[in-house]
Amino acid sequence: METPTEPTHVIGICGGAVAGSEAAKLFAERGALAIVFEQNARPYGKIEDGLPRWHVKLREKEYARIDDNLDTPGVFFVPLTRLGGDIAFSELTDEMGLSAVILATGAWRDRPLPVEGIDRFVGRGLIYQNPLVYWFNHYPDPDFAGPRIEVPDGAIVVGGGLASIDVVKLLNIEVYRRALRERGIEEDAVKMEQVGIAETLAKHGLSAEELGVEGCTLYYRRRICDMPLASVKDPTPAQLEKLEMTRTRIMEKVMRKFLVKMEECCVPVAPIEDGDRLAGLVFRKTAIKDGRLREVEGSDFEARAPLVVSSIGSLPQLIEGIPAEGDLYPFDSEERGVLRGLDGVFGLGNVLTGKGNIRDSRVNASVVAERIIENLIGVPDQADSLDDMSDALHEEFRARAQPVVDRVMAGEKLPPEKIEPILERVRKRWDEVEYAGDYRAWVEAR
Ligand SMILES: Cc1cc2nc3c(=O)[nH]c(=O)nc-3n(C[C@H](O)[C@H](O)[C@H](O)COP(=O)(O)OP(=O)(O)OC[C@H]3O[C@@H](n4cnc5c(N)ncnc54)[C@H](O)[C@@H]3O)c2cc1C
Repeated sequence: METPTEPTHVIGICGGAVAGSEAAKLFAERGALAIVFEQNARPYGKIEDGLPRWHVKLREKEYARIDDNLDTPGVFFVPLTRLGGDIAFSELTDEMGLSAVILATGAWRDRPLPVEGIDRFVGRGLIYQNPLVYWFNHYPDPDFAGPRIEVPDGAIVVGGGLASIDVVKLLNIEVYRRALRERGIEEDAVKMEQVGIAETLAKHGLSAEELGVEGCTLYYRRRICDMPLASVKDPTPAQLEKLEMTRTRIMEKVMRKFLVKMEECCVPVAPIEDGDRLAGLVFRKTAIKDGRLREVEGSDFEARAPLVVSSIGSLPQLIEGIPAEGDLYPFDSEERGVLRGLDGVFGLGNVLTGKGNIRDSRVNASVVAERIIENLIGVPDQADSLDDMSDALHEEFRARAQPVVDRVMAGEKLPPEKIEPILERVRKRWDEVEYAGDYRAWVEAR
């Protein structure tokens, strides 16, 4: 890492996954130095820890892309460095004198389940989606040291978005695998996802009833045909009708292929307690009145379950020193990504909205959304390679980063004497985390 002899822009990027690495590469291609602070040893973010591990090919391709971005000359990776812990936000904005700071830290905080006091049951009958998927992706690793989760039969999932489909599939795959194992049949989770649970059982001449498995149930606050599984911006009545049919068809396929049950039009209103454990939820029916979702008085019913999974979305993790408005950071708009009130701080990727979904994306224009979704959730009519979708995703992230890059590059460059202390700080951190400056060697060893 040599200090440039000419004035140069130096950008601090927090988060090294899709959004952070795409921005880093764009900056480096324009002659800037991009310093990428990543809290983990590996930089793959949602792709590694949020997307269930059955997306084997897609993950490999995504890893390769992120590796390629972070291995670009001019990009300096700083692993094991958490903004708000190992490095303070004020150090980046005030002390280091960087040309700009980019927040690309994603959305890792589960949106709290809106039932008074429910979080006291976390780990005792209640789990949120992010730690569940993390566990599922990592528990096969021989050195996995996280908490062990035993998935019981008959779990309840509160959700309705794309991620909740991953959750119900994951739960049922775990439960049916165990039931098969008890009969001496070993099935691989990834294979089971590809083939489907119904077909896996049929192959062994078994049924859910014979195995005594109930499976999990997804509870959604609106109708199945309202699920955000496919969408069109401002649909015409005809488009809406088609959309509703599409959503219903997609969900019915999920239910058939993965033996998932579903209850529509209900919201959780109270816990069912059993000692210090959560033993299920009281739900209330909902109805749409005057275009608004209303709870129907007197319609409460109990749903008892050994495990409740909340899968109602993710929010950005709030970081000390960065102003927040409620649950989100005050970015002026998704397009510009400027953090209001702080000059030179921008957001990119999921940190902007907390959304990691496909519906609001321009990707829809280039790939038919319905097909992306069906392929992503494993019920395609026509099996497409997810490669095209991954290309489109990266194009999207690059396109969104471009105006931020243009804006920063239009600002003044830093003279070499101001760059040297920044790079000195990076070298010091590299020593602390024992990173020798060779990105490829580092990730290959992990
Ligand atoms: C085929 C496909 C299509 C998709 N299409 C879309 C789409 O159209 N639109 C869409 O929005 N999404 C889409 N997704 C989902 C997509 O995977 C996520 O949106 C994307 O991976 C999020 O990337 P990110 O870099 O914003 O966040 P993350 O992947 O969450 O990365 C954040 C990184 O920041 C690090 N980090 C977090 N906190 C800190 C901290 N304090 N200090 C330092 N580092 C930190 C994390 O460790 C992580 O590495 C699609 C996915 C697939 C597979």
